[in-house]
Amino acid sequence: MSSSDLVMEFSFEEAQRLDVAAREAILEAPGFGKHFTDHMVSIEWTAERGWVDARVMPYGPLVMDPASSVFHYGQEVFEGLKAYRHDDGGIYTFRPEQNARRLNTSATRLALPHLPVPTFVESLKQLVRADSDWVPAGGENSLYFRPFMIADESFLGVRSAHKVRYMVIACPVGPYFEHGIKPLSIWLSTKYSRAGRGGTGEAKCGGNYAASLLPQQEAYDNGCAQVLFTDAATNTIDELGGMNIFFVRGENTLVTPTLNGNILHGITRDSIIQLARDRGMTVEERDVTIDEWRSGVDSGQITEVFACGTAAVITPIGQLKTPDFVIGAADTEPGEVSMSLRAELTGIQHGRVEDRHGWLVRLDA
Ligand SMILES: *Cc1c(COP(=O)(O)O)cnc(C)c1O
Repeated sequence: MSSSDLVMEFSFEEAQRLDVAAREAILEAPGFGKHFTDHMVSIEWTAERGWVDARVMPYGPLVMDPASSVFHYGQEVFEGLKAYRHDDGGIYTFRPEQNARRLNTSATRLALPHLPVPTFVESLKQLVRADSDWVPAGGENSLYFRPFMIADESFLGVRSAHKVRYMVIACPVGPYFEHGIKPLSIWLSTKYSRAGRGGTGEAKCGGNYAASLLPQQEAYDNGCAQVLFTDAATNTIDELGGMNIFFVRGENTLVTPTLNGNILHGITRDSIIQLARDRGMTVEERDVTIDEWRSGVDSGQITEVFACGTAAVITPIGQLKTPDFVIGAADTEPGEVSMSLRAELTGIQHGRVEDRHGWLVRLDA
């Protein structure tokens, strides 16, 4: 076993905790990404020493040199996953090793170092132990973890940084759909692409999101909540700005764009494919065109469309708007297949449906 396979020792510095009443008030209506827990995790990496100085420390601002490379060249990757408080009181997370591996795949593309998988999982455990009171119970409530890795070397030369920092922050989140599930209207970006061959489409990096904000604004201006991106060269469907996409076809088939190098390997996507196969559905991972979507809806072959990702799990898509035509309708009812897959997956995550694939990992014991 090399030293990097060992789980690191974390130091702990106790924060001035938010008082109970204020925390309870936040947990009543947490929103998304607005309120953070009392602590955060930080681990440093240097080219000479590798990963060092793992700590759980009070949540708060970082002091950084303005020449720090992340500010200039955007060398950054991130992850997103949740902790769920089960009815037995235990706190669990969902397939964290998948997030750890994906962080490292993203890191490779951004020329950042790999964090050992056990250290990633331990960092979540450490934060949950410090801030367990922040993991809400009941319904679809959860604690959202945002692990991320940034280049943090004070140097304007263009090369991969010799100093890097990995951090985890966390925020309580309530149900994604507070007023019942409403199908999304999405906008087809015809002017801007998210990814191209050999680009960073497969990496979960801030730069992809930065590039999606202008088309996202175009979506808002056209009355849509999200953007759909197609392959820059072939015009086949890739994914939304931060969610993968599925189509329900015919009696018993799920279709989703194949992992073509431009698409983020969603863990929700992967889990849905498994659950659908468990039900005896056929799952096709292949190219899907806008024409297929359009003619499939016209002919009644495509009965449901949904987006998926950790934040919303499964979100039905009612319509696709493009500059030239509209597919579907805004007032489409959520589909049966979408909703039952959603119920099963959230049921597993929250400990209400049997975890037959061993996807849950306990964090607080
Ligand atoms: C994070 C992300 C997803 C969803 O991945 P999950 O692991 O299911 O949360 C999909 N697309 C993009 C671009 C993403 O960044």
